[in-house]
Amino acid sequence: MKTIKLLLLLALFILIGFFVGKDIMNHKGMMGDGSVRYAVITFDDLPVVFPTTLDSAAAITNKLLAVLEKYEVPAVGFVNQGKVDQMDDPKGYADLLKRWVEKGCELGNHTYSHCHMDRVSLDSLKTEVIMGERLIKNIMQQKGRPLRYFRHPYLQTGADSVKKAGFEKFLEERGYLPAPVTAGYFDWLFNAAYRNAGTDSLLKQQVADSYLQYMEKDMAYNEEFSKEVLGYEVKQILMFHVNRLNADHLEEVLIQMQKRGYQFISLEEAMTDEAYERGNPYVGDMSVAWLQRWALADSIPLKPVPKVDPFIEELSGIKVNSRELVQ
Ligand SMILES: [Zn+2]
Repeated sequence: MKTIKLLLLLALFILIGFFVGKDIMNHKGMMGDGSVRYAVITFDDLPVVFPTTLDSAAAITNKLLAVLEKYEVPAVGFVNQGKVDQMDDPKGYADLLKRWVEKGCELGNHTYSHCHMDRVSLDSLKTEVIMGERLIKNIMQQKGRPLRYFRHPYLQTGADSVKKAGFEKFLEERGYLPAPVTAGYFDWLFNAAYRNAGTDSLLKQQVADSYLQYMEKDMAYNEEFSKEVLGYEVKQILMFHVNRLNADHLEEVLIQMQKRGYQFISLEEAMTDEAYERGNPYVGDMSVAWLQRWALADSIPLKPVPKVDPFIEELSGIKVNSRELVQ
């Protein structure tokens, strides 16, 4: 009897040791089995989503870049040059873009005016790309680096197969690689709620908590869905926006991801994942991410993405529907 008790006690210690050990591993940025996950952090709508004053844009930019530097994140920022040109102090905003490159990040093209691909002609789209690249090409060249990535606004890549193919050809000829997205594209909705919370710090904290919980659920969802679609976890490409919410809370998002075992890599490194060789087979007007596009191509049923807390939808004043998921 005594031996059985001792054995049970021993088993209990082994179990406790296992869980404690697992927790320590997680804090080191590794999963329980010692393997590592990979993610790219990208930002859209630079210099900032809502340019109001140069001071506030600079504050958001500096705070974000400090976090990216601290966690050694080689991010890519996708720019709408129209936002710079329309401001009273375009040079001040152009200087903000330069800071991204000075901090080791890369700039990409997100069209001049953040246009809706399905609402403009192919010729207008081409003009959007050309007008959208003048400033950033210059900034990248000054640092001896090429301009190489393009991100489609609203993740709209073409509802018409001829136009989609025509635009893809144009991008390729101009030296661009389209940047896919596999995760994290609801921050703009949480940011709208965060803005509407105004100076109510308690409410702002509730929004931030809900955002962090959502990101945790979203990563779990994408990890699982990737295994269903590809048979393994893809090197995830996350899309964020340059907004106040991320300036204040991106650090917590990154810490959360590290605990899930993520290491932050460059877009160039992520694109070596063989999944991205599949390109973008989707023709349609849904703003879906790439895992969903591959699933649709292989007739794998889509799974609903995690639900945003209803209080966020209410506070943001935005009704979420499947067609306008992305900013
Ligand atoms: Zn955008």
